[in-house]
Amino acid sequence: MVGRIDHAAEKLNLDPSIHKTLRTPRRSLIVTFPVKMDNGEVEVFTGYRVQYNYVKGPSKGGIRYHPDVTLEEVTALAGLMALKCAVVDVPFGGAKGGVACDPRSMSMGELERMTRRYTYMILPLVGPEQDIPAPDVNTDSQTMSWIMDTYSMLRGYTVQGVVTGKPVELGGSKGRLTSTGRGIAYVTQDMLRASGMEVNDTTVCVQGFGNVGMNVAKFLHEDGCKIVGITDITGGLFNPSGIDVPSLALHAEKKRGIRGFSGGEFVSGHVEANRRLLIMKTDVLIPAALENQITESNASDVNARLIVEGANGPITRRADSILGRKGIQVVPDILANSGGVIVSYFEWVQDIQAYLWSEQEVNARLKNLMNDAFVQVQDFANEHEVNLREAAYMLAVNKMAEVTKLRGIFP
Ligand code: NAD
Repeated sequence: MVGRIDHAAEKLNLDPSIHKTLRTPRRSLIVTFPVKMDNGEVEVFTGYRVQYNYVKGPSKGGIRYHPDVTLEEVTALAGLMALKCAVVDVPFGGAKGGVACDPRSMSMGELERMTRRYTYMILPLVGPEQDIPAPDVNTDSQTMSWIMDTYSMLRGYTVQGVVTGKPVELGGSKGRLTSTGRGIAYVTQDMLRASGMEVNDTTVCVQGFGNVGMNVAKFLHEDGCKIVGITDITGGLFNPSGIDVPSLALHAEKKRGIRGFSGGEFVSGHVEANRRLLIMKTDVLIPAALENQITESNASDVNARLIVEGANGPITRRADSILGRKGIQVVPDILANSGGVIVSYFEWVQDIQAYLWSEQEVNARLKNLMNDAFVQVQDFANEHEVNLREAAYMLAVNKMAEVTKLRGIFP
């Protein structure tokens, strides 16, 4: 992440003082705290919250529960959030948090007690005007409800705007669950039009069929695209005439994966299925599962005209250069998958106004922001003769630099 900021700063010929400011996080908090476990023993956990910056408004970012959570990882993800918010003009800085734990081995009671104590420990940093957490790996709307309740109990009144990704009944936004996939679909359509391609009958391959992959496949299918390949952890489904995505989604929800669906050729095992997916001739490829999926060892086999990054960091830097040489355009993650943070911003706005928007209103506003961001990135790419990834990072760094300059360095 810092490497990309450095590259963007160099290309922008950024003032070295501003560059120095942007490549470091403002606040990093490490907390260690005891939690009573179900067996009567006490476990001590380590948690983090990093506010990368808050030049434009409160900082914002998810909280993840995973054994591998470290300060370095949380800092890099906080920086990525700062860039993502900047590129789509959401008035937040970036933040991220996490607790090093194995949530799969913990009971609901243990998770709740850990979440509440972690919230108490990071209390000096969070708040609707300060820093607003959201779900990330292994945290969800229930986790956000516990954080909101703990924060509210400690303040003495209900504060809905302290987190986003809450259930709608507790001040969550309509449309939040599908927002990342919907945003990717909007950007894919923008990119197709910009490349002179028709949306109708465009062929699309999607890696991953979870929240992001399933929703983007559903929306593009509704819009007339032909989804010809889908993989998940159980394997891959291929159908040159187009997969019946709504039926596959119902099947995958029931069977916890795409295995066993009859509407196409099924390839067992995700390794072989992903290999087939990458080499398949298609107009659009959407990696929406994991990071580092297109690497220097398989990038030259990719047979798509466009790639839209649904996951965070699915293409390595070396693979990026290979794809560039092959003339394959890439819509980068910080632009393509920003629908989630955009609707999180809408959730925060609705909470502080105490006014719930309709789902149509949420989706229309999401479309406007994503379309604007796409046009800005594309114009920047044309103006500076760089690819869309470089343009998105340069644009984000430039916007962060501009507001930093306007505010000046305190004192
Ligand atoms: P998810 O857990 O809901 O789904 C992941 C999907 O990927 C599942 O279908 C799983 O079977 C599949 N998968 C896992 N390993 C695979 C492999 N090796 N090959 C093929 N498929 C595999 O996760 P998600 O929320 O859809 O997130 C996917 C990616 O998008 C992650 O990188 C995440 O960080 C990123 N992202 C998510 C959001 C969001 O709002 N959910 C927002 C921005 C970015």
